[in-house]
Amino acid sequence: MIKPDRIVTSTCPYCGVGCTLELHVKDDYIFKVTSPFDSPVNHGNLCVKGRFGYDYVYHPKRVTMPLIRKTPQKAGERTQAFDLSEWREATWDEALDYVADRLVEIYQRGGSDALAVYCCAKATNEDNYLLQKMYRALFRTNNVDHCTRLCHAGSVVALQQAIGSSAMSNTASQVMLNDVFIVTGSNTTENHPIIALQMKDAVRQNGAKMIVVDPRRIELVDFAELWLPLKPGTNVPVFSAMAHVIVKENLINWEFVNSRTEGFNDYLESLEKFTPEYAEEISGVPAEDIRKAARLYANAKNGAIYWGMGISQLSHGTASALALIHLAFLTGHIGREGTGLNPLRGQNNVQGASDMGAMPFHYPGYMRVDNEENAAKWEQTWNVEPGGLSRKLGLTTTEILSQAHEGGVRALFIMGENPMMSEPNLNVTREHMQQLEFLVSQDIFINESGAFADVFLPATPFAEKEGTFSNTDRRVQRVRRAHPPRGQARPDWEIVCDLAQRIESRLGRATAKWDYASPEEVLREMASINSDYAGITYERIDKVGLIYPVPDVTHPGTPTLFKEDFPRGRGKFIPLDYVHIVEEPDDEYPFILTTGRVLEHWHGGTMTRNSVLDEAYPEARLDIHPADAEIHGIRNGDPVKVRSRRGEVVLRATVTEKTSVGVVFIPFHFVEAAANLLTNDALDPQAKIPEFKACAVQVFPAREGDLANPEAVVSRGRY
Ligand code: SF4
Repeated sequence: MIKPDRIVTSTCPYCGVGCTLELHVKDDYIFKVTSPFDSPVNHGNLCVKGRFGYDYVYHPKRVTMPLIRKTPQKAGERTQAFDLSEWREATWDEALDYVADRLVEIYQRGGSDALAVYCCAKATNEDNYLLQKMYRALFRTNNVDHCTRLCHAGSVVALQQAIGSSAMSNTASQVMLNDVFIVTGSNTTENHPIIALQMKDAVRQNGAKMIVVDPRRIELVDFAELWLPLKPGTNVPVFSAMAHVIVKENLINWEFVNSRTEGFNDYLESLEKFTPEYAEEISGVPAEDIRKAARLYANAKNGAIYWGMGISQLSHGTASALALIHLAFLTGHIGREGTGLNPLRGQNNVQGASDMGAMPFHYPGYMRVDNEENAAKWEQTWNVEPGGLSRKLGLTTTEILSQAHEGGVRALFIMGENPMMSEPNLNVTREHMQQLEFLVSQDIFINESGAFADVFLPATPFAEKEGTFSNTDRRVQRVRRAHPPRGQARPDWEIVCDLAQRIESRLGRATAKWDYASPEEVLREMASINSDYAGITYERIDKVGLIYPVPDVTHPGTPTLFKEDFPRGRGKFIPLDYVHIVEEPDDEYPFILTTGRVLEHWHGGTMTRNSVLDEAYPEARLDIHPADAEIHGIRNGDPVKVRSRRGEVVLRATVTEKTSVGVVFIPFHFVEAAANLLTNDALDPQAKIPEFKACAVQVFPAREGDLANPEAVVSRGRY
């Protein structure tokens, strides 16, 4: 039995649940991960990623030296280089000077609009705060975004409009206080496994009634009182029909509607057409089941809604989320413990990166960049002359790449993200990446996006750095260094500070401060303006974290929001209309493709595909319903070609009743059959989130030889 040299407590680097990890370290290697039973988030439970998925830290393909491309890259001729022979090793001084020279030269030639940055939902709060500060304070641009744009942007815009705050209103563990709860657009078992455990416990131990609204027969359906298998993209009619029933059967919480909301009458008028029968016609969900769901939720003592990207990743993602918000307003299931509107945030620190201002419209603390008072506060904090910060709204991730052309964005800095896997319509994304004049990748592996870069800056994974993550509950928790960085890798926050100083001196600007003694000093600077974090110190979150808002250093945190009022005052009903998905199936492209994650993998696979987890689930599979498979002559395990109007992939089929007739599913982690070659880049006009959850495809049998990796046959017991 190996005896650890030390056990370091940290936070899981994968999903937004934010489980506490105990890293058992021997000779500067983590050899085991456990979790304490008194962890308030996960009570000692971990999923397969948290328990076993740490080994990417030691993968031989990890890059631990700064690299510069041997062949200089040019706009329009940029190529991918995965092989180290196409790069040369550089010192940190050489690499950072080169990056500073090129970025400053492009800025001086093209102005603020020529530069853009992708922050990172996997990096710490401190890393993200500093990177957005560098671009705002030095390059005077708000072209700052990260992958929140691709997951919950629709939810964020809807919640901001209706409530004035976009985080979860309650904590996930409060599901144990629900007597009825709705889970929609979230395959929670695979995406937030520990929250799914609590949902199942709420049903089994407490007799809570779960309503699942999802096109797929996800595992939670086995525990549900009701399953509404709607057609992808028909959330608005289904949830508005539930609202219609609540109104017509007078199940309304009038006291709440009268005292806490506005806009009810206009909303009521818009609701008239959303009868359950109308919704059935569009969504395929039986009208009687819509009525049952409405009655169950409205009559609950404590009702809550938990949702995922099946709501937000649509060209009408904002409207989808608003339809859910209206249900909570009508019934008053918000503002109390055990109720709430709870968008389950995907990545470990997508909540925190958003809080830190890694977005084009907001400074840290969701302070609009086009508001004079906000800008003045940050100008003072960052030692920028009055009027120096840009008041112009920046570009979103999707817009940054589509603006990569002469006169548009010329230089892109990517910290830890992989748009060449995560953006929709990847063939077009590739063309955009090729048009960049200069590209920097700060990461731990050369992934599909970093392979396009001019310079690679080797950063450290979570196990080699200090900082904080903010989970989906708004709980700010510590990340701790288990051992020193491998090779010459450096923590992201240190790299950014070093680079910022070099840029600052080239631009001749007064210093915005980059000489922090520790990440905690970085967090304190951010918290001096962002009052939600004002009372958070590393000492106070040493053991279990704190749930913001924490307005002062004696405040215990705020697990339940909106007890008295909403940040915008009254909750706002916003009339809705049904908007079709952009690409309905037709005779030529008869299936709807929907995409998502599987338990063993994470996003573009930078971490999990360089881990033992890849052996547990080594290839993409297409889920197809048995009725559809029979018509098309497809057997379980057969290779199939899936084609949309934008691209095609070949992968094996899993014939399963987990999906509905006419709907197929592909996870988006696998470059060999990248689902985003197929997806539609149509955007929600308000949130700018792409329609990942629904596009029209063809499916037909293929040959073994068409598969990218015919050897990787997987058999997972639970199918
Ligand atoms: S549930 Fe999420 S946070 Fe917890 S161990 Fe799994 S991936 Fe990590």
